[in-house]
This record gives sequence, structure tokens and C-alpha cells, in this order.
Amino acid sequence: MKALLPALLLTFASLTVVFAKGGRPINDVCPVEGKPGRPIYRIFTDEGTIIFCCADCVEAYQKNPNRYPVKKSEK
Ligand SMILES: [Zn+2]
Repeated sequence: MKALLPALLLTFASLTVVFAKGGRPINDVCPVEGKPGRPIYRIFTDEGTIIFCCADCVEAYQKNPNRYPVKKSEK
């Protein structure tokens, strides 16, 4: 039981590093296809970081941002 706590803290620390890079995304779901967004496919806008489900969606959004309204996450 004693070994469990450091392991949990380590997991939390690495998650924090991921989110600190470029800030937390403002959305959870890809604005183009509506699938869960993945932090590796992201762009930075005036509104904040937006994540997408794949590279194609990043391209589609950048060509026509007004066509894909970004649904912001609650948190
Ligand atoms: Zn996609």
C-alpha cells in the first residue's frame, strides 16, 4: 500500500506536464468530426488551444475556421 502513493503522484506530475505545454485545450471534442480530440493534433488560436481527432481535421479547420464552431469543454 505504501508503494502506491508515490506511483500516483508520479502519474499526476506527468499529466500536469502535458497540459502545461501550450496550455489546456478549450475543447474536448474535435470541431470537425465530433470525435474525441487528441492533444497531439492541436492548434493555437486567440481563444486558446483547440484539439482535433486527426491531422485532416486540423487542415480542414485551418482552411475554414468559421465553418466549424468549437464546442468548449465545461471545465
Ligand atoms: Zn479527424
